[in-house]
Amino acid sequence: MLPDKLQLGNLPTKIEKLMHPPSDCALYLKRDDQTGTEYAGNKIRKLEYALAEALRQKKDTIITCGGLQSNHARATAAACVRLGLRCILLLKSDEQPEKDGNYLLDSLLGAEIRFVSGEDYSNRLEAICGKVAEESEKQGHPAYVIPIGASNGIGTCGYYEAYGEIVEQEKTLGVTFDTIAVTVGSGGTYAGLCFANADCGNPKKIVGIPITDNAAHFERVIAALWEEFSKINTETRAFDPNTVHLLDGYAGRGYALNTPEEMDFVARFARTEGIFLDPVYTGKAMRGLYKSLLTKHPMLKDAKNLLFIHTGGLYGLFPKRSEFT
Ligand SMILES: *Cc1c(COP(=O)(O)O)cnc(C)c1O
Repeated sequence: MLPDKLQLGNLPTKIEKLMHPPSDCALYLKRDDQTGTEYAGNKIRKLEYALAEALRQKKDTIITCGGLQSNHARATAAACVRLGLRCILLLKSDEQPEKDGNYLLDSLLGAEIRFVSGEDYSNRLEAICGKVAEESEKQGHPAYVIPIGASNGIGTCGYYEAYGEIVEQEKTLGVTFDTIAVTVGSGGTYAGLCFANADCGNPKKIVGIPITDNAAHFERVIAALWEEFSKINTETRAFDPNTVHLLDGYAGRGYALNTPEEMDFVARFARTEGIFLDPVYTGKAMRGLYKSLLTKHPMLKDAKNLLFIHTGGLYGLFPKRSEFT
């Protein structure tokens, strides 16, 4: 059983069929980019569980972190306003940045924003979060720290639950998805889907496309998340690491860095499907999926009905305006 959650996101999200898939495999999109205007994207599903836990623990301050254009930070800031919680965001930036995209929205939402240098972000982030939490407690504000992307045991509940939503929608759509594909950034979205699939006897193949690190790294992350998740959902079955399918090769130049080919893919997708992908996450992953379907990659060769989860990221597109030709 999953713990109680808050209801914040615009759920269930709809499933649409793409008009121009790259192969004869039917390709569907689950529009988790439409979980809300302020909450847009996958993070609100995780936050529904993480913030419920914060409230159970009687915390009045939320501390979380991310890149400057973090979708997770923006969704957290919006949810905190709705719930009457103080929100402190630790965002990675070496300079005072221009107000744009998610960072602009964070400040409109009144979040308290502190910048963390690239070096501190890579080496001391956990300690910094802990210190800010300690400070907050001393000022009489008990604080709850949510890790990057809310990818911990409690956050994983979000996509464990979303898997059930998909299974329900299959009945009304009259389609059974043999494969679900999703972008892997911090791993919690993939892990939730994978653990729910395991508890159903692995009827589907869950394919992740890592964009921040490689498959070997995420195999470790997912195993660690299972340890945490299985303490929260004690009925979950031991998942089999052999059911983890990660498609390497599409992280490109690194997190939040793009190539002209990636930007071109995002632009072409908008023109052919009438749907915005984002350059940081879904653009890279969908491009990887298209290439793999076209070249009949072994991981996808049996896919007939494939569901890609559109995890959002629209606001991250605007600060990238100069990279579109
Ligand atoms: C965070 C994020 C992801 C990755 O999800 P994880 O659970 O961190 O792996 C994918 N797409 C978008 C738009 C995101 O903001």
